[in-house]
Amino acid sequence: SSALLTPQEFIFRSKLPDIYIPNHLPLHSYCFENISEFQDRPCIIDGSTSKIYTYSEVELTARRVASGLNKIGIDQGQVIMLLLQNSPEFVLAFLGASYRGAMSTTANPFCTPAEIAKQAAASKAKLIITQAEYAPKVKQYAQDNGVKVVCIDSTPVEGCLQFSELTEADEAEMPAVKIDPNDVVALPYSSGTTGLPKGVMLTHKGLVTSVAQQVDGENPNLYFCKEDVIMCVLPLFHIYSLNSIMLCGLRVGAAILIMNKFEISKLLELVQKYKVTIAPFVPPIVLAIAKNGDVDKYDLSSIRTVMSGAAPMGKELEDAVRAKLPNAKLGQGYGMTEAGPVLAMCLAFAKESYEIKSGACGTVVRNAEMKIVDPDTGASLPRNQAGEICIRGSQIMKGYLNDQEATERTIDKEGWLHTGDIGYIDDDDELFIVDRLKELIKYKGFQVAPAELEAMLIAHPSISDAAVVPMKDEAAGEIPVAFIVRSNGSKISEDEIKQYISKQVVFYKRISKVFFTEAIPKAPSGKILRKDLRAKLAAGVYA
Ligand code: AMP
Repeated sequence: SSALLTPQEFIFRSKLPDIYIPNHLPLHSYCFENISEFQDRPCIIDGSTSKIYTYSEVELTARRVASGLNKIGIDQGQVIMLLLQNSPEFVLAFLGASYRGAMSTTANPFCTPAEIAKQAAASKAKLIITQAEYAPKVKQYAQDNGVKVVCIDSTPVEGCLQFSELTEADEAEMPAVKIDPNDVVALPYSSGTTGLPKGVMLTHKGLVTSVAQQVDGENPNLYFCKEDVIMCVLPLFHIYSLNSIMLCGLRVGAAILIMNKFEISKLLELVQKYKVTIAPFVPPIVLAIAKNGDVDKYDLSSIRTVMSGAAPMGKELEDAVRAKLPNAKLGQGYGMTEAGPVLAMCLAFAKESYEIKSGACGTVVRNAEMKIVDPDTGASLPRNQAGEICIRGSQIMKGYLNDQEATERTIDKEGWLHTGDIGYIDDDDELFIVDRLKELIKYKGFQVAPAELEAMLIAHPSISDAAVVPMKDEAAGEIPVAFIVRSNGSKISEDEIKQYISKQVVFYKRISKVFFTEAIPKAPSGKILRKDLRAKLAAGVYA
């Protein structure tokens, strides 16, 4: 029979039924589809100034920003770069670009001028929206490349336009824009499973699908509702915060409480002051709460959901925080920029009766398929067997910008996106991540691409070969460490190497430790055997 010829496929779906998703709508129209139900409610609360923007203000201002972008020459299909800390202007600029039919590429403002220039050039950004503090970092690049710079500050910055020129534009002058659901709207950068950071093309359709998978459906209280106050301390330049906090919050009509930087006492104070109900965090913030002696001094009883994602969180840490926040449900979500980003979400956030298993990172989202494949044979595996996690659905990226080869390596011909994460699905449909097949290092949830650091290291005349791998670290989760082969006769020291890298990269890509070695282990193909190096570290050979 054909069963003997066709290997059995094990495909996993959500326990929740599929839903109707209006993913023909442009992202901004989808976000504001139900605005009449909450137009006078708070949309953005600025945690630093206490200023509140209602939904109708945000919607109108975003359309003005679109008109302003048009006025200063940004056309449909062009890219603008957002180089901002969390701020109301980030939300307005992103939505404004969406209305304009333009794309936003988001970058960490702590990046070095060289890192920013690389992304601006690769994405062909026509405009950079930033703040006075960071304007000097882009000045040279902007001048050399005829790129305009807008600063969000109320005091004008020399050589830059002011954000108010965008927000004060006349929305009526905005020409009609026809947006195709497959047009790109967000262009975050990620190294994916291998190599250098690449532009991840997320479309209107993809992001609408992803947001709907998280918050839409018959039960309006699924995950979030309009009475919720969502803590937005995670950086909006990362897709986790952009999607699961900002876009999901807008869709349901919740209040988005913006913090421009993480500071534990300020965070606890704001939770108490604004009665935060939803707290999307990353493991280092969860750890800070678990370890903070002052937590008991604040009333944190308003929190009903603590969501952790972007990096693994151990059972011990989960249990420690549960003890501190007995009123809250603490669960994990699992995301990857290329996947739109959410692949799995704690089901107990949606279903009262559902038990949370410590260490699980949720169950696959609705309207999507997940499978676990044997990395060697490609065969799909049944429950309780670990393999590479793959996902399929309308929410995943369209591909990498100008990189067909990397796209094909990541999304196969049948539409499955290969995550490079190793995990298994248990008898209750819970996904557990157990290892990472890909090179990626995650420092407090931030991406560090080993290939980027290796390229810099090898460029140094005193270094003949190098490999960068993650080492476990309690506070950061993982830290990048380097194995170095010195050039003949070179006496380059650990400190010299660390300083050489520090000058070129954002803080979380700094090399924490250097191990000198005779040779980097490699496969016959020349590929670095990272697993061997990681195993040596784990075994304490280099302690
Ligand atoms: P990013 O594209 O920056 O969101 O990074 C995605 C990667 O972060 C995933 O492929 C995983 O390796 C890791 N990751 C995200 N969420 C989790 C989680 N809940 N548990 C373990 N690893 C995670």
